[in-house]
Amino acid sequence: MATMAAGQCAIHPGRIEVITGPMFSGKSEELIRRLKRAQIAKRRVACFKPDLDVRYHRTAIASHSAQTLDALTVANMEELKSVLMPMVDAVEVVGIDEAQFFDATLISLSNELVQLGKRIIIAGLDTTFTGEPFAPMPELLAIADEVVKLSAVCMQCGAPAVHTQRLGSSQSLVLVGAAGVYEARCRACFRPWADEHGSEQMELPVAAADRC
Ligand code: ADP
Ligand code: MG
Ligand code: ZN
Repeated sequence: MATMAAGQCAIHPGRIEVITGPMFSGKSEELIRRLKRAQIAKRRVACFKPDLDVRYHRTAIASHSAQTLDALTVANMEELKSVLMPMVDAVEVVGIDEAQFFDATLISLSNELVQLGKRIIIAGLDTTFTGEPFAPMPELLAIADEVVKLSAVCMQCGAPAVHTQRLGSSQSLVLVGAAGVYEARCRACFRPWADEHGSEQMELPVAAADRC
């Protein structure tokens, strides 16, 4: 019977990768790129997104540059687990977009999945439109093997943008995909509580057919 040498691991370790940054920084593009490469490598991929994000598609994740990848839309972490766990043995790579809209259960699930040897690739906003850390992203960044922090282009001055500016007066934390509601801003141009209008930011098309 084979015995394990000192320091040898019982299972092949998994990996947690987190892709973060403001809106329009290319998080979904990078997530899609990594998942497509995993599929080219014949890895079995499952991708999830919260159903708050109804831009473009319900059955795919999508970037602002219109790249897509098949995904399962779930209402919350409970539904995500109830879909993923029965098929977890058949899945090698788990992708999650818009992770900031899931609750803290995503942290324990990520720890559980990485123990099972899975590769988990998570994309999500690091901060809210007021510049505060957007839970559960801070914890996910802390437990990640790899963190990629992307910047967008400031729509006011063209500098690298680290903030998501909310335009208009709504103070609701969750206001997804409405055209002209957000733009990327650098630190100098960011106005957390401003009531501004007239953004040049690329508008987000909301397809009526994808909303039902
Ligand atoms: P995220 O998921 O971070 O919101 P996406 O991957 O959906 O970003 O979209 C990134 C794409 O958005 C860019 O490649 C570019 O085509 C487009 N884009 C629109 N506005 C901006 C901006 N202000 N800065 C950078 N890219 C932008
Ligand atoms: Mg995105
Ligand atoms: Zn700026």
